[in-house]
Amino acid sequence: MAVAEKQFQNYVDGKWTDAASGDTFESLVPATGEALGSFPRSAAADVDRAVEAAKAAFEEWRLVPAPERGNVLFRFARLLEEQKDELTELMSREMGKVLAEAGGDVQEAIDMSVYMAGEGRRLFGQTTPSELRDKFQMSVRMPVGVVGAITPWNFPIAIPAWKLAPALVCGNTVVLKPAEDTPLLAKRFIELLGESGLPDGVVNLVQGYGEEAGDRLVRHPDVPIITFTGSRETGVLVTKNAADHLKHVHLELGGKNGIIVMDDADLDLAVEGIVWSAFGTSGQRCTAASRVIVHEAVYGELQKRLVARAEKMKIGPGWDPETDLGPVINQESLDKIHSYTGIGSGEGAKLLTGGEVASDGELGKGFYYRPTIFADVDPQMRIAQEEIFGPTTALIPVKSFDDAVRVTNGIRYGLSTAIFTADVNKAFRAMRDLQSGITYINAGTTGAEVHLPFGGTKDTGNGHREAGQAALDVFTEWKSIYVDYSGKLQRAQIDNVEQPAP
Ligand code: NAD
Repeated sequence: MAVAEKQFQNYVDGKWTDAASGDTFESLVPATGEALGSFPRSAAADVDRAVEAAKAAFEEWRLVPAPERGNVLFRFARLLEEQKDELTELMSREMGKVLAEAGGDVQEAIDMSVYMAGEGRRLFGQTTPSELRDKFQMSVRMPVGVVGAITPWNFPIAIPAWKLAPALVCGNTVVLKPAEDTPLLAKRFIELLGESGLPDGVVNLVQGYGEEAGDRLVRHPDVPIITFTGSRETGVLVTKNAADHLKHVHLELGGKNGIIVMDDADLDLAVEGIVWSAFGTSGQRCTAASRVIVHEAVYGELQKRLVARAEKMKIGPGWDPETDLGPVINQESLDKIHSYTGIGSGEGAKLLTGGEVASDGELGKGFYYRPTIFADVDPQMRIAQEEIFGPTTALIPVKSFDDAVRVTNGIRYGLSTAIFTADVNKAFRAMRDLQSGITYINAGTTGAEVHLPFGGTKDTGNGHREAGQAALDVFTEWKSIYVDYSGKLQRAQIDNVEQPAP
């Protein structure tokens, strides 16, 4: 596919602008290695300008009634809907996803915008009776200020929406630093948000590298909230670097998600769920099933069926409707994924299929990896412990349900888990005992919807959740308000308590 070389800009205070230095970087098409365009390689000065604009805009935006702020998001959702086909096609080029999944990514942004638009007419607080007469009290959610949003490339439209829609409806302003691998999608996202009727400065886009633009945003004294989705390693750095200003830090980090397949499972269904969760988005989902914990009674049969399915997958560019498995994001990722094949084999796991770069014909121009399945994996091996972020999954045999739960929990991450079983008792025990923010019963590890909390336990984050009502806690602070209409001094904890006799 021929792609024109174009130059794109940052969006600051309602205007498109270059980086002060004039430096740029390129975004590549992972299916072909071609350049899609060049983008400002922003530095501290560019971030500072964006933060200044967002800080000034906050003073007005926080006073816009929340239902009106919600109306902007309704308009945004409509624009996303109108542009869904264009964004889907663009995503298959810039990020590499197959069309169905790219469409799902855009749909998630539409859903989140609609959900949060409605929040403009809720944003519920609480009222509660006072312990004193003629006194009223309530708690209300208050916007916080400038939100620094830092996003990864694997859900390039959905994740910015998950952060910006709640941040905006709550009355905050935003500076977005998107991933350097998907800057064009971020540019389209912000462009449409601007067209939805946001005042200048309410949303700003600063393109560039994490260690430069991202780092400045994290350390900027006028950015009280950092919402970050990315790897655990970067999340730790972000937390440390934000600490000097005691920022609210919201982290959505990596996963090493496990699917349990019990001896009573519907194996056809389990195979469908595993293939979708392990190889969808070429394994580059935080919720990807990179471990399959299988009861020994069905271990042999499941291996056979999974290998047959994996070997039938058609590898190719995401925009080809025939493609089952698109490319991975870049050369560095391809090298990392392949290095784990060497690590797994070296550790003594049995490579059942895949394990190599796919480079026949046109594939040689892009970054493709064959769907890879290891069997006889010990739970402590590195391929069973570390996030690979590619189309590689590890089959781990177990003898019992208790074993399966222990192995599934035996990792540092806690994002998503799943179990295939026909036994309702085991299903309920799994819901209770699996240590993860999300658990699926008789489905794979992916498939979140926008109105439930999304996020993980343990090293997947720091206890916050994205999406649903939980997102509001990230982007607001509670204020408790007391109104005394008695016309006299009433002292809580004193005047309403019977005093002891003198
Ligand atoms: P990454 O950590 O390399 O980068 C994420 C973002 O952080 C990018 O925008 C990057 O430029 C920026 N960044 C890098 N260094 C920085 C620094 N020092 N200071 C500030 N910002 C910095 O992650 P990635 O490769 O883009 O994404 C893949 C990772 O994201 C995987 O670990 C995946 O599991 C995780 N992820 C998690 C979720 C979730 O919701 N839990 C969702 C999607 C992806």
